[in-house]
Amino acid sequence: MPAQEGPMTEITLYNTKTRKKERFAPLNPENVRMYVCGPTVYDRAHLGNARPVVVFDVLYRLLRHVYGPDHVTYVRNFTDVDDKINARAKENVGEGGDVNAEIARLTAQTTQWFLDDMGALGALEPSIKDDPDHQKAMPRATQYIPQMIAMIEGLIEKGHAYEAEGHVLFAVDSWKERYGNLSGRSVDDMIAGARVEVAPYKRNPMDFVLWKPSSDDLPGWESPWGRGRPGWHIECSAMSYELLGDSFDIHGGGNDLMFPHHENEIAQSCCAHPEGEFARVWMHNEMLQVEGKKMSKSLGNFFTVHDLLEKGYPGEVIRFVFLSTHYRKPMDWTHEKAMEAEAELRRWRAFAAGIEPMGSPHQDVVKALADDLNTHGAITILRELYKSGNAHDFRQSAELLGLLTPELGSWADGDIEPEVGELIDHALKMRTEAKATKDFATADALRDALAEAGVLVKDTKDGASWELGPNFDPAKLEALK
Ligand SMILES: [Zn+2]
Repeated sequence: MPAQEGPMTEITLYNTKTRKKERFAPLNPENVRMYVCGPTVYDRAHLGNARPVVVFDVLYRLLRHVYGPDHVTYVRNFTDVDDKINARAKENVGEGGDVNAEIARLTAQTTQWFLDDMGALGALEPSIKDDPDHQKAMPRATQYIPQMIAMIEGLIEKGHAYEAEGHVLFAVDSWKERYGNLSGRSVDDMIAGARVEVAPYKRNPMDFVLWKPSSDDLPGWESPWGRGRPGWHIECSAMSYELLGDSFDIHGGGNDLMFPHHENEIAQSCCAHPEGEFARVWMHNEMLQVEGKKMSKSLGNFFTVHDLLEKGYPGEVIRFVFLSTHYRKPMDWTHEKAMEAEAELRRWRAFAAGIEPMGSPHQDVVKALADDLNTHGAITILRELYKSGNAHDFRQSAELLGLLTPELGSWADGDIEPEVGELIDHALKMRTEAKATKDFATADALRDALAEAGVLVKDTKDGASWELGPNFDPAKLEALK
């Protein structure tokens, strides 16, 4: 069932691979396929981790709108085997503790935290057909070890990988012409510029690990090369092949993953399955800063999503701030932006209250998003729809960006003292009465007093309504008593 009447919306996306904006033409419009690199689960997601989740959530919503909700497959992995996980688990249990049990606990808990935090930002869970609990759409690396081993065996057979001292390494020289194409570097440049781990068993210093040995106290699986565990990069190649096939439409992630992770994924997948194209469009979001600075623990501006939610920033506000910057530009998180977003969302929610989403989103909003995910432009159009007073169009269009949804709305109501609401209602009633008796001086004085306290009054044909502005100060309502 097409989502829209008439000609299908044309989507253009910037493809990192070609460094151009291209018209998007899926391999199969009945099943548009997207893979996005997910988190390594050992700690809470920080604000920067959330950016790709929100960016690709909007793309997912757009694809579902254009191709139909049943015609989009979206896979995002959980990396639940990794040296960072092992190190954190060892630290948690101390000397002689049961590291494996702690790894199971830590990865399960962190996975749930991630889902909770991203859900609070309004991100839909990835999905695959006939996968009601989203288990396949959110694959855990440890569930795909046999597929990784099979892919590594294939790479060895084809001469793209070799075994050395219990490790299996990808031989970049076997793929030298194309290795580095995505990020625009040559193997020789990389060797000259990179501080790579020089292991004596590597043929080329840029060769990267597909498999490595595990000591008895760490997670390990039997393999043709002894008990061991996979390198990080192979999991995305093996899981995307298993779940999406040898050619699919979009691969996404933060631009910090472009090298080496995505470069290595391409090398592995294209060498293991040369009959396929692997990912046709590569999309990368830019990084996030906080108050104009790189987020870092030493600067004291390092926040997890959970920290911000706990401090009272609503998830919808965080989402709105993210979407007000285009995904290919660095995004600066500031408290001031959050305050402005909160005030605007309060006005929007008041305007759209009680309005059911109906019909289609406004075509200008769709067009903005279809133009390489111009979320900033889409928000500008939402502002115009708000001003024009078309609440249905406005509400339906906002949902395409994952805003004003019922799930995200609880922050906007019920968070003021009931007596404050009564006081404001009473003041508005007095003002209406004053106007009715042509006592405009009193009516204006009441309006000014409300404005002074940061209460925004809106007169409509059904009477006056109000909402709290960003400068709301309950103390100043004393003047109304
Ligand atoms: Zn990946």
